[in-house]
Amino acid sequence: DEMDVGTIWMDGEFVDWDDANVHVLTHALHYGTGIFEGVRCYETDDGPAIFRWEDHLDRFYESAKPFEMEIPHDPEELTDATLELLRREEMASCYIRPVAFFGYEMLGVNPSDIPVETAIAAWPWGTYLGEDALEEGVDVGVSSWRKHASSQIPTGAKMTGAYVNSVLASIEAKAHHYVEAIVLNKEGNVAEGPGENIFLVRDGELYTPGLAESILGGITRQSLIEIARDEGYTVHEDATISRGELYTADELFFTGTAAEVTPIKSVDNREVGAGERGPVTADLQSRFFEIVEQQPPEYADWFTPV
Ligand code: PMP
Repeated sequence: DEMDVGTIWMDGEFVDWDDANVHVLTHALHYGTGIFEGVRCYETDDGPAIFRWEDHLDRFYESAKPFEMEIPHDPEELTDATLELLRREEMASCYIRPVAFFGYEMLGVNPSDIPVETAIAAWPWGTYLGEDALEEGVDVGVSSWRKHASSQIPTGAKMTGAYVNSVLASIEAKAHHYVEAIVLNKEGNVAEGPGENIFLVRDGELYTPGLAESILGGITRQSLIEIARDEGYTVHEDATISRGELYTADELFFTGTAAEVTPIKSVDNREVGAGERGPVTADLQSRFFEIVEQQPPEYADWFTPV
């Protein structure tokens, strides 16, 4: 079990992996009333460093707001817990999963009186979409499932229950032998992947759906926007992208903490561009990995040393 690294931080204590359990009548298990984050720590030239920890932590607390959930730990405590966990497990390169949820007390739908439980786990996690994905790109299909609108479930919050939409899209993609799905929003425009944001390249410029398109405001997305601008590219970050534009794009790629920067080589069995990682994607992908491996001074504030 590659997730079992020995220890999990839970409600203020470090507990053995086997003891990090919850009750079967946990509110969040029944109604999806949890929130979570996904963060990566990279082995950099200056030692292990967490990528954009502050931004992930901000989003963690923001995700709790729609539920009016009070996380009973302040950001400093969660930061210390995470750093201590990584040091204890001597993990350099890993994935970090903070989660907070309404626990056990009663099972009425309204959770306002239920105690909140919080945990942080970390484990090594390689490439998300397969070994060859970063170089070769992935084959994706447009899902028949539409993304929920923010008026139905806030899409900018990482609420656990919201991920049934991603789960359904992933199951369908796999059934159709695609590596990943692209999910359209209610209007039928491109939203995102089940766990990734999407970028389109046309005539050397970058386009990515805006926050109003029912997407999660990805931290990798934001990083890529900044990196691309620093590299001199024009980025349209409030784009509306129609389904048809996917088929005629010069290049497409996914961004995400797990997926990092993954080229898309086909959509619905139509080759994207030349059917391989395109030059703009390659350029930005290599710059992204250079940054997370080297922590260059101009991006120093993106890193929290372990
Ligand atoms: N969209 C969804 C639905 C996601 O789950 C994720 C992963 N957190 C992303 C986009 C990418 O966000 P980030 O770059 O912050 O990991």
